[in-house]
This record gives sequence, structure tokens and C-alpha cells, in this order.
Amino acid sequence: MQLGRWSDWLSWLLWPALYGLGLFGSYLALGSSRPLLAFNGVYLGLFVVIALLERLMPFEPQWLQDDGDTAANLAHTVFTKGLVQIGAALAASLGMGTALVVQPAVAPASGLWPAAWPLFAQVVLGLVIAELGLYLAHRIAHEWPLFWRFHALHHSVRRLWVVNTGRFHIVDTCFKAVLGQIPLYFLGAPLAVFLWISAVTAVTGLLTHCNIVLRTGPLDWVFSTPGLHRWHHSKRIEEGNRNYGENLVLWDLLFGTYYNPSRRPPADIGIHGRIAVGFFAQLAQPFRRNGVRDIMGQDTQ
Ligand SMILES: [Zn+2]
Ligand SMILES: [Zn+2]
Repeated sequence: MQLGRWSDWLSWLLWPALYGLGLFGSYLALGSSRPLLAFNGVYLGLFVVIALLERLMPFEPQWLQDDGDTAANLAHTVFTKGLVQIGAALAASLGMGTALVVQPAVAPASGLWPAAWPLFAQVVLGLVIAELGLYLAHRIAHEWPLFWRFHALHHSVRRLWVVNTGRFHIVDTCFKAVLGQIPLYFLGAPLAVFLWISAVTAVTGLLTHCNIVLRTGPLDWVFSTPGLHRWHHSKRIEEGNRNYGENLVLWDLLFGTYYNPSRRPPADIGIHGRIAVGFFAQLAQPFRRNGVRDIMGQDTQ
């Protein structure tokens, strides 16, 4: 796409603006009397804005074409988010936050968490710690065939756009959530930190999959940006098994899996295996012998 001067500036401004908008909305939502409902509203609003921008200034025009998977992608999103939120709401209705239910059982008065720090600093610390678990879970999902059979669903997309953000098998999501959150439970992080990490992860996820012309420059050294994540969806294993960070690239940098060449990432993305068509078939496929053979294909990315 030929960008004019105005669009050029916009492409630099958009990632920080959308990220900031998402975090500001989260701040308002988490401080409201109905935080879960309000946050879903913020998420949906950001989703719509990104979907509109994808039409106006797409990074890959060919990714705008329908692949027939939109309904399944939305079903995975709603199913996974619904289960997580119902669980959280049930815990809250018992008078306890999710973290408060599990935390005392595994970390009796650990006293390690710096609860006196300003909330912002606690959230940054929580993110850095959670990211290590998320990084490990994601890397395992790529490198261990048993876990790849669940994660392959996410990588089977042939186009990147905002609707693919929530295309994860429920088992994949739960595995990632457990590894990402367990260290924080042990350290005794408060519920507010868990909520903020969930909000930041949701906002970052919408942006990493978007099909918008965005320039992020030096931000690529801190955040998991769309440019970095497009390499992660490459069909080539030496490019796809890189950039595992969910929100931050810190652990990719430390463990040597950071990948950000200056050339343009491939438009032809996906996996070599075959993923079933439709929500229920996709949920069942990793558990079926024949289905698993299809997923593994010739290249267990
Ligand atoms: Zn992946
Ligand atoms: Zn992805």
C-alpha cells in the first residue's frame, strides 16, 4: 500500500495510541462498579476500532479476503473467554477473587510480594514474572509435539487479523494461564495485579494480530508488536519458532529467540498440517488419533 505523508505519521502513532486507549479504558473499567462487564465493553470497542482500521489501511491487502473461518474463530474466543470469566465471577460471588481462592493454599503468608510498591510498579513486576511462564508455555507448545497438537490451531490461520486473536484451543489457553500465573500465586501478588496483567494481555493480543500498517521501531525491543508476531506466524520453522513473548520481548532477548529482520515478513502464513473445519471438530481434533496425524503434518513447527 502506498502511504501518503499523513498515513505515514499515522502508522507511527497508531500502535501507541491504540495501546494507550486500551490501557486507559482498562483503567476506567477496573475502577468501576462492574469491572468485568465494563472491561468487556472496552475490549469490544477496541476490537471494532481495529477492525475498521484494517479496512482503511491494511498491512497485507490479501489478508482481507474471507477464509471461511470467522465463525469458528469467534466461537473459540467467546468459549475461552466465557469459561475464564464465569470462573472468575463464581469466585467473586463467593466473596473472594480468583487469586484469593488459590493463593492462600499455595503461598501461606509468603510475604515476598512488594505490596507497598505503587500499583504501577507492581504490575510491571508482575508482567515481567508472568511473561517468563507465558514464554515457557508458548515455547513448549512449539517444541513439544504433545502441546503443539493444541497450539497448531492458532497457527493454522492463513491470514492475520483481529478476529484471529482469540483462536486458541481451550487446553492451550489453560496451559498458558497456569504457567503464567503460578509464580505470582506463590509470591502472593494481589488480585489487582492479576486483573491488570489480564487486561494488558488482552489489549496486546488484539494489536499483535491486527492487519494494519503500523510502525513500531524501538518499541520492538520492549513490547510484543504486530511486526514481531507476524514472523511468529511464518510457515518456516526457523522464523516461526521465534518471538514467543506475549506482552514483552524480554525473555526472547535473554533466551536468544528474538527475531526481527528488516525485510518484510511473509504474507503466506500457516502450518504444513491440516486443521479440522469448524469449532467442535477443532476442539476434538487434538484428542483424535487420525486428527493428530493431520495436525503434525510433515513439519512439527
Ligand atoms: Zn505460537
Ligand atoms: Zn498469534
